[in-house]
Amino acid sequence: MSTASLIAMNYCSECGNTVHLRIPKGDSLPRYICDHCHTVHYQNPKIVAGCLPEWDNRILLCRRAIEPRYGLWTLPAGFMENGETTEQAALRETWEEAETRVDITSLYSVISLPHISQVYLIFRASLQQPVFSAGSESLDVQLFRENEIPWDELAFPVMKMTLERYCQDLVTGEFPLYVDHLSRPIRPKT
Ligand SMILES: [Zn+2]
Repeated sequence: MSTASLIAMNYCSECGNTVHLRIPKGDSLPRYICDHCHTVHYQNPKIVAGCLPEWDNRILLCRRAIEPRYGLWTLPAGFMENGETTEQAALRETWEEAETRVDITSLYSVISLPHISQVYLIFRASLQQPVFSAGSESLDVQLFRENEIPWDELAFPVMKMTLERYCQDLVTGEFPLYVDHLSRPIRPKT
């Protein structure tokens, strides 16, 4: 990790004074530290939780009504809120984006995106009923058979990876935990 992966910070969120980047005693990485109250402002990855909802050999996808990737399809997922479990976050996001209730089957994919300091957790889940509709963040919600998945219109590579693995697993009918990462190549500075 380098300081390039830190979100820039100028002022202390505790007291409003200036912060400077340095390595705290006993630590190994640079942190923003307040010049006045000496608070160390740690930055850690964010968790995105979501579902891969299934119904009758089809999977549910949402067409995004928000940026980024407006108009493209994705699995329902979003940032965890404080105080939630990962399952609660996945269920909440599925309700908000697809207005459907699901039962979680198992954790399916854990994909790290170190270049943006995010970790995606996607759960397999079953729709309780084939009832769904576009929430405020979606233009449309549809069930897709494997051969109907809009591969060229998927919003995020991490979702494409998860769906590709899922389609492979459909062949065997076994869905072991899929742990992987997605790294964006770093362009050399010119
Ligand atoms: Zn401070």
